[in-house]
Amino acid sequence: MQLPPQIVIHRAAEEIGGSCIEISSGVNRILLDFGLPLSAAKEKKAAHEYRLPLDGAYKDQTPQFDAVFLTHAHPDHYGLLAELNPEIPVYAGRATINLLQNVAPLYGISLSHLRFVTISPGETVKYGSISVTAIAVDHSAPQAFAYQVETAGKTILYTGDLRAHGKCGYLTHGLARYAEPDYMLMEGTTLSRPGKISETESELQLRLEKEFSAAGLPVIYFSSQNLDRFVSVYKATRALKKTLVIDPYTCYVLEQFRHLGRNIPQWNWRGIRVYFAPNSITEKLEERIFRYAGRKISLKDILLHPEQFVIKDNFSIRHSLLKRSADIHLIHSSWEGYLKEEDNAFIQDALTHNLPISVIHTSGHGDYNTLRSLVNKLSPRLLIPVHTECPGRYGELFDVPVRVLKNGEVLFLQNQPQTENRTADSVA
Ligand SMILES: [Zn+2]
Repeated sequence: MQLPPQIVIHRAAEEIGGSCIEISSGVNRILLDFGLPLSAAKEKKAAHEYRLPLDGAYKDQTPQFDAVFLTHAHPDHYGLLAELNPEIPVYAGRATINLLQNVAPLYGISLSHLRFVTISPGETVKYGSISVTAIAVDHSAPQAFAYQVETAGKTILYTGDLRAHGKCGYLTHGLARYAEPDYMLMEGTTLSRPGKISETESELQLRLEKEFSAAGLPVIYFSSQNLDRFVSVYKATRALKKTLVIDPYTCYVLEQFRHLGRNIPQWNWRGIRVYFAPNSITEKLEERIFRYAGRKISLKDILLHPEQFVIKDNFSIRHSLLKRSADIHLIHSSWEGYLKEEDNAFIQDALTHNLPISVIHTSGHGDYNTLRSLVNKLSPRLLIPVHTECPGRYGELFDVPVRVLKNGEVLFLQNQPQTENRTADSVA
């Protein structure tokens, strides 16, 4: 029996992370994102334990989906891929695919059984009566996408994760070109604190510059995969005519983004040196690290002139510096939640050595003002919360009709979208 066209948020309707949304035309079915819950990082359970009730998506089943479209390379959006049926193609931007194929295996995630297909911003892919267009947006992962899906005479806009205060904020503003979707599934990660205004990545860069000029050798923790943050750290370092010291893993990650443009910093750029930290990831890079050898720097050279350097933190270099009682200045430039984790080695080292930590970070997600302005510009006929802890607040926070879905609840695509916060009559 053919089902009517529908949207189902299988996960992330009521929480942040683990995103997976199904859109079906009745004949064709696609999935937007295929993520693991955020809790999975701590729980260490096998991926199959996080399977959603999706008959025909998994590797031991007959495939019943046409394709998966990924928004970006964060595990809460792709982490379930290890369970995906290899006959179902996975579409994503090139930077996302590079990270999944080349970097994820370093963490024991093997996706080599899957067929990845590059989709470029503005490109449309059709499966029968469903067409999907990738739209570049700004997020803390490089080359993040939103998707516009057209089926059964309706347009559905899925924002993925986005913000407008990063270095590619203009992309998110460009979403206005896709105005008046029938349905808009919008993330609301920050909506539990709607009064908080996010610092821009450029403002953060200026703060880093001040921090790097303070006393002590700066040792800064941030994710190598957060390209915006890397650029901010690099530019702040260069503004002070200092040299940024990175590890081979970071060199390798930067190479995955080389295709994004000539302005993407690489390990062989001026003002970058490489410290060969012996650790499990460096080991897995094997002979690939030899090409970085020309930029090698030793700990001795760093300690001869500490005022000339900024160090990108990793466990190995931090411990080598602490062992030599170097005068270091710890900076944490990542999600603040990590600072509360009891088993966080960065925090434990700071406590053991009685070192203060400067926290310099801005979110990968748009603040309330950004989301509100986006909703006003796009004017969706129906707004659907996703990737949020407070779906129930959308009705009070946004001036458009809202429909809150539960995980697994079916929303049939109808001629007149149905709301629960307002009556259908109020929909123009
Ligand atoms: Zn994300």
